[in-house]
Amino acid sequence: MAHILHRQTGHSYQVAATARGVIIRDSAGKEYIDASAGAAVSCLGHSHRDVLAAMHKQLDQLAYAHTSFFTTQVAEELADDLIAHAPDGLSHVFYVSGGSEAVEAALKLARQYFVERGELGRRYIIARRQSYHGATLGALAVGERGWQRRHFEPLLIETHHVSPVYEYRGKRAGETAEDYGARLAKELESKIQEFGGGNVIAFVAETVVGATLGAVPAVPGYFKRVRNICNRHGILLILDEVMCGMGRTGTLHACEQEGISPDLMAIAKGLGGGYAPIGAVLIQDKIFKTVAEGSGVFLHSHTYTGHPLACAAALAVQRVMRRDNLLENVRRQGVYLCRRLNERFGNHPFVGDVRGRGLFQGIELVADRDTKKPFDSRLKLHARAKREALARGLMVYPMGGTVDGDAGDHVLLAPPFIVDEQLVDAIVERLGDAIDAATTV
Ligand code: PMP
Repeated sequence: MAHILHRQTGHSYQVAATARGVIIRDSAGKEYIDASAGAAVSCLGHSHRDVLAAMHKQLDQLAYAHTSFFTTQVAEELADDLIAHAPDGLSHVFYVSGGSEAVEAALKLARQYFVERGELGRRYIIARRQSYHGATLGALAVGERGWQRRHFEPLLIETHHVSPVYEYRGKRAGETAEDYGARLAKELESKIQEFGGGNVIAFVAETVVGATLGAVPAVPGYFKRVRNICNRHGILLILDEVMCGMGRTGTLHACEQEGISPDLMAIAKGLGGGYAPIGAVLIQDKIFKTVAEGSGVFLHSHTYTGHPLACAAALAVQRVMRRDNLLENVRRQGVYLCRRLNERFGNHPFVGDVRGRGLFQGIELVADRDTKKPFDSRLKLHARAKREALARGLMVYPMGGTVDGDAGDHVLLAPPFIVDEQLVDAIVERLGDAIDAATTV
């Protein structure tokens, strides 16, 4: 262990030894309920028999074949499966190995689309503040979370940011949710007009904001307005559903609940459910055709694109999810989790908001409920909450910088889709104790 550059150099990490279902066990024998599926990854829980069997079978047949020479049956089958269940108009899949790669590929494909069309002046990307799109330079540039970007600012491609949809803090008194959404859509349109609609490549957004805000959905009507604005200016809408997609919110894709279809969509995490590193970009037919009838080459590739083992894992995850009707369970247990969180934290002196969709829920911690004042960021309350939860055998995903990239703390919950009420009760009970302990100064 001494030779790994760990996330935190001074921290002593427990060794994860075995895992089954929603439980991870460390090398000392301590058990943890995985109530965040890692980082919203392990959607089927751990060691799912059917996924492991599919992976073993694939390994015995073929572990790897470079995509410049071959395609594979399993990669083709997964693409067929993904497109059969994709939002309107998405017709093709580009494989990658994770979320950041998916966002990078989407950005480059968006630019190439316009180059193929001769619209060379399109160069601006607009995204939202308080969002996370990945750690690689392009994805980092598109995301906006102060503490993560600051060091690398000189290396980042030019992107411009508008306000997130953040009802708890952003909606004005007396404003309806619908009006709030309209105001934000207008802000986007003004930003586009600053550059001229014909110079903008894409608007990028997480359909439900995950790591930076803690499971914050948009307000009704917002994404329909955004879709219309993009259409009007010929701008591509790129949805990042790396965290909120693939069933997490109760529908396979979060945008289904918004009644819109993106031009490009990044997916990862729940796609492979943690069994193998895999991500993908789902592509509108018009974009595919423009490239296919133009240069015929997407100028972007990776060595592990379409890795057969990863595709086998992802295909098995999709099949199990449908066979076991797990989206139904996500919806049912999501409602239950939300109710239990509200019961436990609805009157908690240091919890200002409970929000989310499906099995993607967040609580925001505040020093004062009336003023919504966050805790002093030097307290690192989110880290304290994580420590207290782990001590109680609970994995959740707390994060700081909720309000503006520096101040604010939230805790994200994203349990596997196989949870039942008893487990949800245990999660909420342990989390309640952990938050009580963390906020007792
Ligand atoms: N987009 C979103 C919305 C994410 O939540 C993440 C990961 N937290 C990423 C992109 C980057 O994914 P990865 O860590 O797999 O590169």
